[in-house]
Amino acid sequence: MGVWQRELIIGLLLLVAVSIIGGMTGLFMPLMLLLTLGMLMRQLFQINRFEKWIRTGGRAKYPKTSGIWEEIYYHVYRIKKNEKKRKKKLGKMVDQFRQSTEALPDAAVVLGANDEIEWANKAAREVFGLQQSDKGQRIPNLIRFPEFIRYLKSGNYNEPVILPSPINHRITLAVRIITYGAGLRLLLAQDVTELKKMERMRKDFVANVSHELRTPLTVLKGYLETLQDMDDGESPLLTTSFQQMQGQTERMQHLVDDLLLLTRLETGQKKTECVNVPALLIQICKEAEALHGGDSARIELTLGTDAHIVGEEQELRSAFTNLLGNALKYSPEDSVVKVHWRRSHEDIVLDVEDQGEGIAAADIPRVTERFYRSEVKRNKKVGGTGLGLAIVKHVLMRHDAKLNIASQLNKGSRFSCHFPGKRGCN
Ligand code: ADP
Repeated sequence: MGVWQRELIIGLLLLVAVSIIGGMTGLFMPLMLLLTLGMLMRQLFQINRFEKWIRTGGRAKYPKTSGIWEEIYYHVYRIKKNEKKRKKKLGKMVDQFRQSTEALPDAAVVLGANDEIEWANKAAREVFGLQQSDKGQRIPNLIRFPEFIRYLKSGNYNEPVILPSPINHRITLAVRIITYGAGLRLLLAQDVTELKKMERMRKDFVANVSHELRTPLTVLKGYLETLQDMDDGESPLLTTSFQQMQGQTERMQHLVDDLLLLTRLETGQKKTECVNVPALLIQICKEAEALHGGDSARIELTLGTDAHIVGEEQELRSAFTNLLGNALKYSPEDSVVKVHWRRSHEDIVLDVEDQGEGIAAADIPRVTERFYRSEVKRNKKVGGTGLGLAIVKHVLMRHDAKLNIASQLNKGSRFSCHFPGKRGCN
């Protein structure tokens, strides 16, 4: 039998008993009143006891009672006990999580909606020099590098920003922000000192080697020219050897020049001027025609806009010359190469389009890597250093521009340089 039924039966029995006694004694109403009052008092007493118990947190063992109240006490007690268990488990989990993030080698800072520090791990306190008392402080007040403040404000956190540590300038950090939840952000900083050092060493090495190779190459070339002048053509072996040596020294010269240019692009200061791109394109097309046998019908230049752009003329010349050179090199002699300077929505765009052999889809993402040349080109021994598109990529990066490559095998390729409209300057 359920507690509720028992409770009801007891109430009914009491009511029947009081009715009978009341009927027999003629005191029905007073007895009924007494019964109601008694029941009310009992409930009030129970409510009072329950309120006292729950007021103290309901932690102590509940008072001895019976009937429906025992059930109520039991259920509340059980809920409380489960909640306590859950809280303990949750606390343990949070502790473990904190301990693991504290032990992380990378710095982690949780930022609030107003850039205030909500929490920072040990590594963050070490590399940023943060104190426990900095909690609640706005991070731009503590890490004051302008590039960091710009990064924080930009809201574009795709790429990390490279900063020195505010307390030790010898440490280089790659700082990245990750957004999550509602307005919360996690700032992560990784020590990239060694990585940057290696990168610098690689750049220095390439720059030094290329620089040092220039003099011996010039000497070799000089002697080779003299020897070629002296060659009377009597020995075909000697003549072809000289020709091959000349071809290879020229190739080496190109390699060294391209490597030096890449080094300059990676490390050099950016200069800015307003470059007359239409004039530059006219000149480049003329030069390219002259270089490729003076065939003026091959290049079709369309100037859809007169836009000039802010940039470095020599760098743009190298990039555009490389694109045009490739288009001519990798397409049949009798095909047309289209060069189009145009506006597209917000952007100013240069398209270089050929009807050549095209690039396999798998090769497209890789062609801008240094020394990447598709196997076909290597096998066919088509001249080239494999550095041209790497130069194009770097030049465009320095001009906030992007390179799009659309290509189909045996149909042709289109290389499009997208300059942001804000670079326009006329
Ligand atoms: P290079 O032309 O000296 O080999 P690049 O860096 O300019 O080096 O180009 C890398 C590779 O991309 C080339 O070897 C070639 O396979 C491919 N490529 C570049 N431009 C074109 C093009 N217009 N058509 C077909 N393939 C191209």
